[in-house]
Amino acid sequence: MYDILIAGGGAAGLCAAVYSARAMLSYVVCDSGAGGAAVSAERIDNYLGIFGNNETGTEQTAELNSIGSPSASPDLNARSVIERKETAMKQRAKRNAGGGSPHGFELYEKFRKHAELFGAEILTRGITRIETVPNGFLTRFTDGGEMLSKTVIYALGSTPRKLGAEGENLQGVSYCASCDGAFYKNKVVAVIGGGDTALSEALYLSRTAARVYLIHRRGEFRAAPSLTAQVKATANIELVLNASLVKILGKNTVSGVELSINGKGEKLITDGVFAAIGSVPNTDAVKDIVSLDERGYIIADESGKTSLAGFFAAGDVRTKPFRQIITACADGAYCVRSAEDYLNFR
Ligand code: NDP
Repeated sequence: MYDILIAGGGAAGLCAAVYSARAMLSYVVCDSGAGGAAVSAERIDNYLGIFGNNETGTEQTAELNSIGSPSASPDLNARSVIERKETAMKQRAKRNAGGGSPHGFELYEKFRKHAELFGAEILTRGITRIETVPNGFLTRFTDGGEMLSKTVIYALGSTPRKLGAEGENLQGVSYCASCDGAFYKNKVVAVIGGGDTALSEALYLSRTAARVYLIHRRGEFRAAPSLTAQVKATANIELVLNASLVKILGKNTVSGVELSINGKGEKLITDGVFAAIGSVPNTDAVKDIVSLDERGYIIADESGKTSLAGFFAAGDVRTKPFRQIITACADGAYCVRSAEDYLNFR
């Protein structure tokens, strides 16, 4: 029986793995292989100590070259790794001209290598359900297997919220600009949302698309002022404010969007639609054993302690005011500290 089962191999889970190793606890990381929210970020500017020119381009390119090789991340889905590597390399090459910040995937690879260096056992096994058993927890997997542990650090993050509009299943609707933006070179796209993600996605797309409509339901953005200023200064981003999405138009592929702007119907012709209206926490596997808030996030403070003794929550999946990679890492560290206390004094 492991001391800790770490559910999730994103920033919070991998940081928990490093801290578990240093605490000399027995632990295993179980993850779907997707790498968490950070892998999709086109650039990471705000992770302390990691910035464009702190390593030579040659060193970072060498690291990127190892992504997708048999020795690196052997249990990740090979096709998606290679696609992400290609995208990350293209983006890095562009940024190197100006000495930019790393791609989220590069940072994720560093996290993973760091955890592996400390001996982390990282299994690609989807989690379906976690149950309480005497003296611990039973985790069930999609492959039918199960595993026992004395504690759980739950860090399964969140998935993009669906628009819930007619036409959402059409080809050309995406939830990730850095994954799909390349398809829209010199085309017209719409981004829906007004938070950091939406504005970052709009800026990213503005570099290749001919025009980006940024469609937001209110007149003010929720995003950071610096991002808002950049968006407003970008010539090919057109703000469409106080606008609700009525439906996405098209037969098989997207041909436009129908909006209600200040109550008046309007249609915009677009080739693609990028949804960035927040995310939904991945708590299905534990919703019956731990308290969630009204939006489905696991109620926990920065210690990671939840309503259930021995079960800790880290990263985007817990209630918190500020969801960032750096705060997810802090959560992972703190949860291990809490798990240690629990194991020592239970
Ligand atoms: P947010 O919850 O911050 O923003 C969601 C946006 O979508 C809001 O503008 C909201 O509108 C809008 N929205 C929500 N539901 C609907 C709906 N049904 N129809 C239309 N619009 C809707 O999510 P984000 O993904 O942007 O950010 C999540 C967290 O991640 C934040 O804490 C953010 O700071 C962080 N983040 C940080 C980044 C960075 O540091 N570089 C990058 C990306 C995210 P309204 O404003 O009216 O509520």
